[in-house]
Amino acid sequence: MRRRRCGVSGSRTIALPSPSAVLPAVSSPPRHPQAWAWLFALSQIGGGAVGLQFGWDWGVPLILGAQALSFWATLWPQSRLLSPVLVRLPARERLVWLTIDDGPSDDTPALLDLLDRHDAKACFFLVGERAEARPELVREIARRGHEIGNHSYSHPEKWFWALPPRAMRAQIDHAQQVLGALAGRPPRWFRAVVGMANPFVAAALKPLNLTRVAWSARGFDAREADPACVVARIARGLRPGAIVLLHEGAPHGNSVAIVAAVLQRLGRDGYRCVLPLDDAAADPQPAPTAAVRGGAPAAS
Ligand SMILES: [Zn+2]
Repeated sequence: MRRRRCGVSGSRTIALPSPSAVLPAVSSPPRHPQAWAWLFALSQIGGGAVGLQFGWDWGVPLILGAQALSFWATLWPQSRLLSPVLVRLPARERLVWLTIDDGPSDDTPALLDLLDRHDAKACFFLVGERAEARPELVREIARRGHEIGNHSYSHPEKWFWALPPRAMRAQIDHAQQVLGALAGRPPRWFRAVVGMANPFVAAALKPLNLTRVAWSARGFDAREADPACVVARIARGLRPGAIVLLHEGAPHGNSVAIVAAVLQRLGRDGYRCVLPLDDAAADPQPAPTAAVRGGAPAAS
């Protein structure tokens, strides 16, 4: 199903990034995961008080409006209402953060070779049970210098948005354990399944120091099989610091060709695919040559 028309963007002036350009450290795990509950309770009590005082023609819309707002914040991947989320990174040069969801899959080895050929680094948001089934692919992703993110344990795409607190925590905790053990370090990024994060996600992310990541450029490639169409959609969101959303193992079987076309377009437009700095590397006395995680080699 095609949700949007594909268009081809025009040519742009290109300023290539300097060889030492990096994406900054941007971790921001939730700090007050229960704040929404207090605000929500206050909105409902406030709506009730307004209803009693001024009549339910005023009170009911306030109560329902707060509920609708919470529902919208759950379904809208870029919403910061319920917890912090990265949508785009602060960058002035043509650097992007490539993120690839839903692996590991049959596509993973070809994707790794493709990324190597383009001197690109990516964050693979992996599904815990798929990683358990193919541990060698997880290790290979890490060995090639890419990053691994948490994308839930079983990827319940129909119900993730509605999971209750205990089930939500189990999805995130279990994936974190599996991926951390296989990759040798725990993930620092989390992507909600289909991007929808309900109010219980933040409480599960905080103890694991996980930052939720959305995106600013997407091509609906999980369903769209035409590389040119995906590229045209992604190109509309390309800016310095863009977070690009891609998938692997899509049912249409064209994920590798799509990533290849996106990498080609990024290269043509002068963008480099790099990973955000480590928080540790960004601390007071950074070592410039050790600070870069991924991307084209630093000047050293
Ligand atoms: Zn997914």
